[in-house]
Amino acid sequence: MKTTPARAYAAFDKSSPLRPFDLQRRAPGARDVAFDVLFCGVCHSDLHTARSEWPGTVYPCVPGHEIVGQVTAVGAAVTRFKAGDRVAVGCMVDSSCRTCASCKEGLEQYCDNHGTVYTYNSVDKHGAGPVTYGGYSSHMVVDEDFCLRLSEKLDPAAAAPLLCAGITTWSPLKHWGAGPGKRVGVVGLGGLGHMALKLAHALGAHTTLFTTSAGKAADAKRLGADEVAISKDADAMAKCARSLDLIVDTVSASHDLDPLTNALRRDGALVLVGVPEHGNPAPAVVNLIFGRRSIAGSLIGGIRETQEMLDFCAEKGVVADIEKIRPDQVDEAYARMLKSDVRYRFVIDMAPLRG
Ligand code: NAP
Ligand code: ZN
Ligand code: ZN
Repeated sequence: MKTTPARAYAAFDKSSPLRPFDLQRRAPGARDVAFDVLFCGVCHSDLHTARSEWPGTVYPCVPGHEIVGQVTAVGAAVTRFKAGDRVAVGCMVDSSCRTCASCKEGLEQYCDNHGTVYTYNSVDKHGAGPVTYGGYSSHMVVDEDFCLRLSEKLDPAAAAPLLCAGITTWSPLKHWGAGPGKRVGVVGLGGLGHMALKLAHALGAHTTLFTTSAGKAADAKRLGADEVAISKDADAMAKCARSLDLIVDTVSASHDLDPLTNALRRDGALVLVGVPEHGNPAPAVVNLIFGRRSIAGSLIGGIRETQEMLDFCAEKGVVADIEKIRPDQVDEAYARMLKSDVRYRFVIDMAPLRG
């Protein structure tokens, strides 16, 4: 197979700084879109994976799944993109299934046949590498079906985080009916949390942010929070009891769920999207029973709903609040993310890798 070289930043083990890595991208097939990566967001999942906080990392590991690029070439069967177009890619780049009920419903991330090919650290069925390599790279080649259209109206760097932080919070907000008349809580003001606030607010819900960082309260209000509660303050949490219809929990570290289930109204749902290295303590069952409340989880979002979210954001002018960095600043960004010092998404400008 004819491949093309790409420059990337990779983790080579669970503790060393990321460093440059030369890899091969496949030559675009009939259904492929080849593009230069302009910007790539830095998700906490990148850190969990690069540092082997989750099982199964294959090194070298090239993270990155909040990708905005510019198309350089397309295969003969591609109909929606041409050279020069803007393109966006999120957490999935392919599927080996496309036929099960979930795939047919546009929920490829829940493929019943485990066919989802993630943007990095997934088996690469096209053989250009042992695993897929993500967006911390100069260019990529992706199946058209997994390429999204992104409006030219949105700043491409600030829009990049929509591809994971945006869709991962949009999907549960929509599924659980966030909108006018609904009271929505968001836990954690990082990359996902700040997008959850912006999106819930734009959907018309009344929003409450739960944060461990008192210093983020003013920003939270600016980002769309109607109310802010410091989650370490037991009195403040008690005041929120039985007040919310839905809570989207984006916390990246193990934490107590009971003050959160307690904040739900009857029939409310606490939806976990954070995937901490060490699990959360088991929740109190009585909190669920006395209130018919539920705890659920949600995984990214399907391609169709990702496009809907991108179109909604273009219409409403919703993008992330970002801090732009160079590829060689990723480790610094990871260190700051671990200290909850992110305001509110790092985005790598890939220009240095494109040379
Ligand atoms: P992030 O930017 O680092 O934000 C996480 C936030 O959680 C922090 O800013 C902090 O907010 C809060 N936090 C951190 N440690 C805490 C602790 N010990 N107790 C309470 N709160 C704490 O991370 P992210 O990129 O938004 O990702 C968040 C999580 O979602 C990660 O685990 C990531 O892997 C996961 N994720 C899941 C999906 C999915 O499909 N389900 C998709 C993407 C990411 P405050 O300072 O406001 O307290
Ligand atoms: Zn992510
Ligand atoms: Zn499937």
